[in-house]
Amino acid sequence: MKLSKFDQRIRRADELAAVHPFAAEILQFYKRLASLQKVLYTSLQEANGNGSAKKFSRLAGEHLDFEFLTANFPEFLSAVEAIAPGPIAQSAQGLRTQSASRWNDRFSTFLFSGPDLEANAGDPESLLVIAFLQPYAEFFADHREHNESDETARVCPFCQGKPVVGVLRPEGDGAKRSLICSLCLTEWKYGRIRCGRIRCPACGEEAVEKLAVYTASQFPHVRVEACDTCRRYIKTVDLTKNGLAVPIVDELATLPLNLWAQEHDYVKLQANLLGI
Ligand SMILES: [Zn+2]
Ligand SMILES: [Zn+2]
Repeated sequence: MKLSKFDQRIRRADELAAVHPFAAEILQFYKRLASLQKVLYTSLQEANGNGSAKKFSRLAGEHLDFEFLTANFPEFLSAVEAIAPGPIAQSAQGLRTQSASRWNDRFSTFLFSGPDLEANAGDPESLLVIAFLQPYAEFFADHREHNESDETARVCPFCQGKPVVGVLRPEGDGAKRSLICSLCLTEWKYGRIRCGRIRCPACGEEAVEKLAVYTASQFPHVRVEACDTCRRYIKTVDLTKNGLAVPIVDELATLPLNLWAQEHDYVKLQANLLGI
């Protein structure tokens, strides 16, 4: 049952908020956002006959169902307005008063140009559009036609989005590495770990001396992987160390790791749903 993943994310946000008070506020906001996304995902399931929808192997602008999107956007924005911190609530209100054709331009621009979010870019309107499009993209990603995946792909094979977090999953005696898309949340395999070697998901660098890994005792299952060639970093959640982690939620909660990376002049490869 696909829907349970939203409940897993919400439950994980609660667990992490309880143990990391510094992240409690953002996790509470994320939880409410995830509940709104769950409603959208459910509407899509109903509108598309629970999985009998047309299948795409890639998501592109021409696959946008403007009728569905413009019908649901105002309600989503009103709901966000009621739960969001000040500046985001104001942006939601501003977006709600724009015309449907302006919204459609934003939706298609977003998917045609490929989602690209700089961390701390300070554009709440883009974040709202992404939060709204995410369950839409995720629904079609969940029902996509599968292609052979390329283990060197640095963007999502389904929607061309950049990865927001890396994952290590147990495999045999070691771990298998994958990346999770910042928009549709597709997880794709990325490289193999040989003798602990990693490859930069931003530029493909593989030279050990160019790649830094940082961990903090506070989060033994999450590490920063930073590249000295392109100065980008991504966090990777190690499910071999903590099988209860939900990578996109643990990524949100591990704020001190972002600070370490910023202090060392690394820029995040892709901002998360909350623009961090
Ligand atoms: Zn994607
Ligand atoms: Zn790099």
